[in-house]
Amino acid sequence: MRGAVFLGDRKIEIRSFPDPTPGPGEVVIQIKASGMCGSDLKFYRPPPGEAQKALGLGNNTEPFIGGHEPCGVIVARGPGVSEREAPVGQRVMNHHYAGCGVCGHCRVGWSQLCRAGIVVYGVTGDGGHAEYLKAPARTMVPLPEELSFSEGAAVSCGTGTAFGALRRMRTQGGQTLAVFGQGPVGLSATLLGAKMGARVIAVEANAGRLALAKQFGADALVDASKQDLVKALKDLTRGEGVDLTLECSGAPAARQAAVRAVKTWGTACFVGEGGEVTLEVSPDLLRRQVTLIGSWTFSATGMGECARFVADTGIDLERIFTHRWKLDQAAEAYKVFDAQSSGKGVFEF
Ligand SMILES: [Zn+2]
Ligand SMILES: [Zn+2]
Repeated sequence: MRGAVFLGDRKIEIRSFPDPTPGPGEVVIQIKASGMCGSDLKFYRPPPGEAQKALGLGNNTEPFIGGHEPCGVIVARGPGVSEREAPVGQRVMNHHYAGCGVCGHCRVGWSQLCRAGIVVYGVTGDGGHAEYLKAPARTMVPLPEELSFSEGAAVSCGTGTAFGALRRMRTQGGQTLAVFGQGPVGLSATLLGAKMGARVIAVEANAGRLALAKQFGADALVDASKQDLVKALKDLTRGEGVDLTLECSGAPAARQAAVRAVKTWGTACFVGEGGEVTLEVSPDLLRRQVTLIGSWTFSATGMGECARFVADTGIDLERIFTHRWKLDQAAEAYKVFDAQSSGKGVFEF
């Protein structure tokens, strides 16, 4: 099979590999769609292994097949995997983490929290930017019939991460929700938050992405390149501040504003990876009873719930893709994505 290998320092190469054979407990899926997620850039840009180390994901410096939003069809089962567990031909998304499989976190579907060490497909193990992917059967989540493979790929990280964070914040109809950063995760949060009934305020510095946010259901827009974010958000909420903020950009100034723009008793949530933030604990948090949440993706069950929500509420998630690529175009695809002015890209097979 062919796979797009991340070599580090913004280099990608298409290489040939033997077709994977499933071992005990494993399945092989034929990839139909493999999404591009903002965090891929964290592994695409720096020298090999640097980002993995900084993000606490091990010390692997070997080149690897990228892509942690794999979606496809089960084509082979290894020893010990039953027909009921993984029927050949089943359409599936991959919850892209493998833990020990037996600890408390793994058993409830939160295998990324496993303390025994994890494989992250597309980051520390071979991912979805290839014709086939081999992973434990327990990491596969059925894809609802209503969703396309590309939509399933989006749910497999970007859209699922937005959904997981909105659920953790207990987003409700009638609340105000400010979403910082309108890349693939932020745009999904705008779309899902609006569907959940929240009044969404999109915060973003790129004009094209702001315009997309409007189309995806944002009630108001804040141009982060021109406006004082905290003031703008207070002006839009009668001086009170917003109920919920979701910070997807990872920029320190945006993180600070996301905490400061919530109202008293409000909740701020960080999903943007890496880096730091400086807060003044008393005025920013304590004196206003602020809840600050860190949210890392979602469980395998949560991923299924996200797909179900998208299907049941009739969201057209195909609209989130501005670029569709073939695997051979991987180098060009990441060059375009690296400019961070477009929407989401996907490899379709
Ligand atoms: Zn475990
Ligand atoms: Zn991701």
